[in-house]
Amino acid sequence: MKKTCVMLTIATMLFTSLFTVIYLSASGGYDYSTALNYSIIFYDANKCGPEAGNDNFFSWRGACHTTDGSVRGLDLAGGFHDAGDHIKFGLPQAYSASVLGWALYEYKDVFDSTGNTDKLLSTLKHFTDYFLKCYPEPGTFYYQVSDGQIDHTYWGAPEEQTGPRPVPYVADESNPASDVLGLTSAALTKMYLNYKNIDADYANECLRVAKELYQMGKNNPGHYKLGAYYRSNSFWDDLAWAATWLYVAENDNSYLPEIDSYLSNNTFLGQTPFENKWTMCWDDMYMAVFCKMAELTGEQKYINAMNYNLDYWMNSLTTTPDGLRHLDVWGALRYASAEAMLAMLYYEQTGNESLKEFAKSQIDYALGDNKNNMSYLIGFGSNYPKHPHHRAANGYTYAGGENSNPAKHLLVGALVGGPDAQGNYVDDVNLFQHTEVAIDYNAGFVGALAAITKYYGNLTSPPPTSDPELLWYEVGDINLDGKIDTTDLVLMRRYILEIIDKLPYEDMDNLRIPIADVNGDGYINSTDYMLMRRYILEIITEFPVEYDIYGNIVN
Ligand SMILES: [Zn+2]
Repeated sequence: MKKTCVMLTIATMLFTSLFTVIYLSASGGYDYSTALNYSIIFYDANKCGPEAGNDNFFSWRGACHTTDGSVRGLDLAGGFHDAGDHIKFGLPQAYSASVLGWALYEYKDVFDSTGNTDKLLSTLKHFTDYFLKCYPEPGTFYYQVSDGQIDHTYWGAPEEQTGPRPVPYVADESNPASDVLGLTSAALTKMYLNYKNIDADYANECLRVAKELYQMGKNNPGHYKLGAYYRSNSFWDDLAWAATWLYVAENDNSYLPEIDSYLSNNTFLGQTPFENKWTMCWDDMYMAVFCKMAELTGEQKYINAMNYNLDYWMNSLTTTPDGLRHLDVWGALRYASAEAMLAMLYYEQTGNESLKEFAKSQIDYALGDNKNNMSYLIGFGSNYPKHPHHRAANGYTYAGGENSNPAKHLLVGALVGGPDAQGNYVDDVNLFQHTEVAIDYNAGFVGALAAITKYYGNLTSPPPTSDPELLWYEVGDINLDGKIDTTDLVLMRRYILEIIDKLPYEDMDNLRIPIADVNGDGYINSTDYMLMRRYILEIITEFPVEYDIYGNIVN
């Protein structure tokens, strides 16, 4: 799907309804360490290249796009598919690796104690291996493989995709791309920091390339190619972000005046970046810069910038009636998650409890504390989206509209885009602004979850041992469309009368629940039919049986 710029909504947002919110401590809590584990696992679903199937949680993923780059005589295999499609975009990959690397750098103890460090490191290395390939010689950096016009006509498994995989864009002396160069530099510098005690040679190579990419972006300042997806509104923020992490890695004060000079530029709206009403995302790294620089320097201008932004988010930004800070209709949860990560990192600096409670409220919302009682993290809890916009997990094709069926495979750990400004969520594969998943969505979510786990989670719990690849559906939802209605009743009747010999759910991978056996007696017969009928007529409001994910009767 087209990722057009969404920041123009800022201007209108300033005049939308403003709420003052009092934060109540949410009662109870969620299994944050499991949510953290799942949200890292998700990246396996979007791995690309000949090694995509190695060390992959998902049995339905394997090697794909193994000759990427060959049209230019290059090896650009590897990296990550962007979202529900199979394009490899430079900017959101760099953003994702940069934020995930930041999360590991700040919360390594949490990843260690929850058993997640190795998986996150191997995920990060899959990113940085690819970034290094994208820089085949000094002064030349490739930042995209495939193309929206080509890729989006295909709905199917990445392993089976054929057709051209162009390499449309390059940064070099005559083509600036300070945005993607800055973000990639920052991702590589963090890999250096996170990896230098594991493999010093690899870490040093990451730092060498990080410095050269930063120099490229600095010496030839400018946006990347007009017309490309994910083109960012500013590149000064990305250069400042790169310089911030080189300053961390090298402790060289000469980066500080460079950062100041980048931040003296106004945003594309003609405003100072120090009064920012957006949040950290692939298009805007100002808040990330301010957060880290406030910690590193203690300078008042950075503290003021953090206070301004967080006050706006906590007290003025449009909020759904059930509590989600709603920055934009496209992927609302990613923004709230990224802001939650910033709030937690700033909490570490300030000890301001309201920041922590705000962050928890947004993460709890994503995990099920919302009016739909739905976990927007797939596989987490018992009620989560069944129709994510993701070709590999979906398992069908466009033929006959089959891709609107529930996904064949459980996309464990994917954070969907999320609800609209009213908190409504329609689980429809075609509503990609709400149901798509993406590598950038999960990045801030992983960081926020690590921080929330530190304060509210169980730090001694090992990674989950249950098999989250099993699917869960409501008893009675025979056609798996998310509701129990006369369509289900008709199917059951036809089955009992032996007009059909199989029910639709019997073909589902990893579904153990006998959906049509609504009284749990081991048979599908007229007793079930009668109960279904009474349920649909609202004579009864629940069935006499409940199953767990394995199909065992629990009630
Ligand atoms: Zn691929």
